[in-house]
Amino acid sequence: MDIIHLLPDSVANQIAAGEVIQRPASCLKELVENSLDAGAKHIHVIVYDAGRTLLQVTDDGCGMSETDARMAFERHATSKIAQAQDLFALRTMGFRGEALASICAVAQVEVQTRRAEDDYGTLLDIQGSQVMRQEPCSCPVGTNFKVKNLFYNVPVRRKFLKTDKTELRNLLTDFYRIVLVYPDVQFTFVSDDEVMLDLHPGTYKQRIEQVFGRSGSNPFTSRMVDLRTETELVSIHGFVGKPEAASRNPQQYFFVNGRFMRHPYFHKAVMNAYSGMLPGELMPSYFIYFDIHPDLIDVNIHPTKTEIKFADEQAVFQILMAAVRESLGKFNVSPSLDFNREGEIEMPVGMTPADTAPQVRVNPAYNPFKTRPMDATPQGWQSLYAAPDAAPDAATLTRESRIGRLTETDLTEEQPGTLALDIDSLEGRALYRYAGRYILVPTDEGLLLVNQRRAHLCVLYALYRDLLTHAGQAPAQQLLFPELLSLTADEMTLMQSLLPGLEAVGFVLEQIGRTEYSITAVPSLLTDGSAVSTLRAILGEVSRTGSLPQDEWERRIALSMARETAMPYGKNLSDDEMRDLLTRLLRLPAWQYTPDGQRVTYLLTLEQLNQYFQ
Ligand code: ADP
Ligand code: MG
Repeated sequence: MDIIHLLPDSVANQIAAGEVIQRPASCLKELVENSLDAGAKHIHVIVYDAGRTLLQVTDDGCGMSETDARMAFERHATSKIAQAQDLFALRTMGFRGEALASICAVAQVEVQTRRAEDDYGTLLDIQGSQVMRQEPCSCPVGTNFKVKNLFYNVPVRRKFLKTDKTELRNLLTDFYRIVLVYPDVQFTFVSDDEVMLDLHPGTYKQRIEQVFGRSGSNPFTSRMVDLRTETELVSIHGFVGKPEAASRNPQQYFFVNGRFMRHPYFHKAVMNAYSGMLPGELMPSYFIYFDIHPDLIDVNIHPTKTEIKFADEQAVFQILMAAVRESLGKFNVSPSLDFNREGEIEMPVGMTPADTAPQVRVNPAYNPFKTRPMDATPQGWQSLYAAPDAAPDAATLTRESRIGRLTETDLTEEQPGTLALDIDSLEGRALYRYAGRYILVPTDEGLLLVNQRRAHLCVLYALYRDLLTHAGQAPAQQLLFPELLSLTADEMTLMQSLLPGLEAVGFVLEQIGRTEYSITAVPSLLTDGSAVSTLRAILGEVSRTGSLPQDEWERRIALSMARETAMPYGKNLSDDEMRDLLTRLLRLPAWQYTPDGQRVTYLLTLEQLNQYFQ
């Protein structure tokens, strides 16, 4: 006797429901997402007994026709995708077509729905996947879902539900994840006749305020700073908490293309950006919204759709970390730094004041970082600074070479937090060197400590970025004995596309065999014999992840070049050199962290200092 048979739909749906509808909160999420997909601008939620007895969602979306209303409850019935490739261009919250089928398998569902073009709406009554009743009704345009007695026919599930209090918290948690992405939609949430949330349309900031702003005296968002960055790969905006507002139960949210997601890896990027800034065990709040081409993410890896895969997670990680650092940096130091008034400072024993020379104009012929033998062409970092023919003034040059491309508004001078300090006033100011590693700058607000190698790295990075974007020509140095670079076949293809960039930063390469290049000239900042290893480092940096947007390539080339050419620790800088380096550093839009996220400066405030002496 054959023993295999197909399960009846009602049973199959109940099994599927186990995955999609685990608790009232998941049911609420599916219903509200459907309302949003239907274009609703007003969504009202009513629950009784934390959704056990009733969970109602009313919207003013597009509604459904009589037939569609019936179809909607079939498994794999959806209006949102038609073919597999649509999965890679998702702009709707739903697409799997299993939510309604699942809900009606485990509850008693009543729906009233009407489209604008219909005179009458449809009423549909379904229990345990069985249609009990369908008839015309009069109702407003939109859809009204009532889900009653959830899990009435699955006692096990019902038993596993937590207390009402916990389930209500779950409902709200899931609800927050939605309302925070749709600030333009009005939402209400009523639980056992009590209005829990009444959210009016507004900005993202206002929405966060409406949801979390009730506790404490300060508005929630006053403890946050803006975050915004735009690259070809991804746009990121949102808010991150000031370090001093960190708490034990922070609000942490990631959204991508309007959908909440968990992303432990990106969470790490954010936490890295805060490293060293957080007191003890405390954590920052953040609300971070990603916009990315749907092609580059995969939301279809889990039925509840909170796990999302990005095509190039490493690049996004870097971009995110740098963006958060930059936001924190702007807030943390820049606005309060004032170089016009000098702090009172006694000259510390064993330190030389740097301003012994009265006139401190940079001498372009002077090359402190030359590591080549004296007979080599005397070109060093000073000459490289002034390198591109057009010699763009450092301010415009570096402003554009921030990580990622910034929006127009970000580039204007008024941007809050971009440096409001008068750079010329560094002239004649006492600077101190310490341990061959640090430059100390007394300011009114405290002692600014600068890591000199990292400062140099930032400056060089900006310079290389600029050379790359404007296809400039950096000073190159002919090699007496060309070095040989042999590549594998796949490195060869990569190399072809890298060549223009490499030439821009100062390499001259000639192909001499099928897979070999002769390096005849190198950027003048490179030390002898490091040509091959530098090129290898660049190749490695670029090839680690698949195809990259141009922007990201340039970023990586510039970064490996900067790493190779930045001055080593232990370099004793002259006063002019320190001043010059600082001037260039402080002109950069982001100078508190290196592009790969390491701290460049630290402001030891007077307050902190005084504390040491209490
Ligand atoms: P999915 O959202 O994945 O398409 P669902 O089972 O959640 O699957 O919904 C099935 C279909 O029912 C949707 O594709 C949509 O066409 C329709 N629908 C569901 N809820 C609503 C609503 N509130 N307003 C209009 N149409 C809806
Ligand atoms: Mg849906």
